[in-house]
Amino acid sequence: MSAAASETVATVIRELVDANHILFDQGVVDGFGHVSVRHPDRPDRFLLSRSMAPALVTENDVLEFDLDGNPVVPNGPAPYLERFIHGEIYRKRADVNSVVHSHSPSVVPFSVVTGATLRPVCHMCGFLSEKGTPVFEIRDFAGPGSDLLITSGKLGAALADTLSEGPAVLMRGHGSTVVGSTLRQTVFRAVYTEIGARLQMEAMRLGPVTYLTEEETIGTTKTISTQYDRSWFLWLKAARNSPMSR
Ligand code: MN
Repeated sequence: MSAAASETVATVIRELVDANHILFDQGVVDGFGHVSVRHPDRPDRFLLSRSMAPALVTENDVLEFDLDGNPVVPNGPAPYLERFIHGEIYRKRADVNSVVHSHSPSVVPFSVVTGATLRPVCHMCGFLSEKGTPVFEIRDFAGPGSDLLITSGKLGAALADTLSEGPAVLMRGHGSTVVGSTLRQTVFRAVYTEIGARLQMEAMRLGPVTYLTEEETIGTTKTISTQYDRSWFLWLKAARNSPMSR
């Protein structure tokens, strides 16, 4: 690997560490959940922390995986049980370069109530599908007695199929997975998927909800797409000033 290439990888790893800390500080992940980024030089690989709480991740904890979820360097530290989520989505979606899997709490009710569909209620959530966010039912693939986790390539591929071409997929009784073309866009989407779910639940208690039209989802997404850095640097400063980072 050339010096320039290795510098690119080092920069991506530093941003991935920042993303881990931001997602904790913004309440998307807790002790669980993870964020990955596609390898900048090897599209058939991705970068993801070893199994640990995201808020505690450092550059030394980031591992490289192939799309089957195997660590490129064998006999290393324990990887996340659900790393197959990432590899199978990168395999299916050439447009995706980052993935966040979380159990962010406001999203989970939409995964368990039949007829309650997560949809875009405000401009910051305009990236969500106007037709509704799909729900992955693991019983259809792992039977009635699984632990609900995506612990194999087979389950990861089924989840990627349910995600289809969309930005997010809910996982029944478990959480959600959000994707994007860049790390910063994906972190933005993960934060606003949680906020959008909370706003939609509050709106539903008041009465019938007016959702964004398909044209409004396109318009709002186009405008916001130039603004990700604005929240990124705010959230990064907040994460670095958090008592957790001292
Ligand atoms: Mn999980």
